[in-house]
Amino acid sequence: MTFMETVWSGALLRLFVSALVSALLGVFAGAVSGLALFAAILLSALALHLRQMQRLVSWAKQPAGTEAAEVSGPWSLVYGYLNRRVRNGQVAQMELKRQLKRFRQGSEALPDGIITLRPGNIIDWFNPAAERHLGLRRGMDEGAALTNLVRQPDFVSYLEKNAGGRNSEPQVIRSVRQPGLTLSLQIIEFGANQSLLLTRDISAVDRLETMRRDFVANVSHELKTPLTVVKGFVETLQEMDLRQEADDAQSYLLMVQEQASRMQHLVEDLLTLAGLETGNLPASEDQVSLSGLLAEVRAEAEALSGGRHFIDSTAVDGCMVLGCRQELRSAFANLTSNAVRYTPDGGHIRLEWCKTAQGGEFSVVDDGIGIEAQHIPRLTERFYRVDRGRSRESGGTGLGLAIVKHVLTRHQAELVITSTPGQGSRFSVRLPKARVRG
Ligand code: ADP
Repeated sequence: MTFMETVWSGALLRLFVSALVSALLGVFAGAVSGLALFAAILLSALALHLRQMQRLVSWAKQPAGTEAAEVSGPWSLVYGYLNRRVRNGQVAQMELKRQLKRFRQGSEALPDGIITLRPGNIIDWFNPAAERHLGLRRGMDEGAALTNLVRQPDFVSYLEKNAGGRNSEPQVIRSVRQPGLTLSLQIIEFGANQSLLLTRDISAVDRLETMRRDFVANVSHELKTPLTVVKGFVETLQEMDLRQEADDAQSYLLMVQEQASRMQHLVEDLLTLAGLETGNLPASEDQVSLSGLLAEVRAEAEALSGGRHFIDSTAVDGCMVLGCRQELRSAFANLTSNAVRYTPDGGHIRLEWCKTAQGGEFSVVDDGIGIEAQHIPRLTERFYRVDRGRSRESGGTGLGLAIVKHVLTRHQAELVITSTPGQGSRFSVRLPKARVRG
């Protein structure tokens, strides 16, 4: 039975009983008494309904979500329905609150900054990442104009250009307040007259891009010089009478060969570096005999020195290193060839190996030109040289220590450099215990 059917049948039943009782009274006590009783019953029913309506009006004035009092009689059904609506509303509201809380928690955990803006770039709300990126203060800056808080000109002009929340192309800005911080900004249309400003920290990508640009510029520069020399000599040779100027031609050809081998070394080092950088696989686990490796590296250094230096090495008794033989050989050879190239004639170079509590240490010690302290942290950067001219003269590519660093990283080893200008240097490779046997 529907609600109205229940109400109507209840009311009709009550009317019928009242009329019956009043008619019976009219039969036994006279028509006037019967009518009076009927009128009294109707009046009391009317009073009851008026009172319930008044309670309903006062309930309607209460704050939304307040439940109505429990009553009995025909109105109990009305109140029951109303209370059910209130309870359903409460449940829906709690669910909304829960969802809003989850959305806020989610956006607070985001690494990207989000700021909701009203017209005039007035801040509505922002998350902690936006707080960090733009130096805003939560609980204080809401309601303020963002362009008054962040006054950096390119930031302000981006916001003004995209005012009105039109979806914008992202723009990169370098923070003036926080040097080293690069942000990507984007405005997104959102709701009526509202916009979202997204901020993303792209400092790492920006640094990589700068490094890439520098690298390409460096490689081009390194190749340009020998290429110009080679081109110049080839042109001269073309114009020469080779039968009559055979001696000059021979010396020019030697210089061409020298520049060609310089370019060849550079390309070889670049390929080695690229191979180390792209090879994500860990260094292979050969059992590398240290005495054999040191003997090879020492022989190479002696050949490079051509008897201009005193070179010796400590004895290595049956020690083995776990790693990639070719990579380790390239790293150790780079360190020894540097010692030869940066030590004046008559200097001493020593290759040392010792086992330590942490593993093992291979060192190349020289009494050469040494390095000033401020250069040491940058020596492993690609193309970083203390003296560009001297490096080139001695056949350097500026990539040797970058290669060493990569090889060592792949072997969980580290490079420790100590040096005194004018007295010499020590380049030590510290290998972890897990890589040393014997
Ligand atoms: P390069 O090919 O120029 O030698 P490296 O990467 O091998 O490049 O070395 C970087 C720079 O470190 C060199 O240009 C040089 O200035 C300095 N350097 C390296 N080894 C030594 C050393 N044993 N003594 C003095 N300076 C050194």
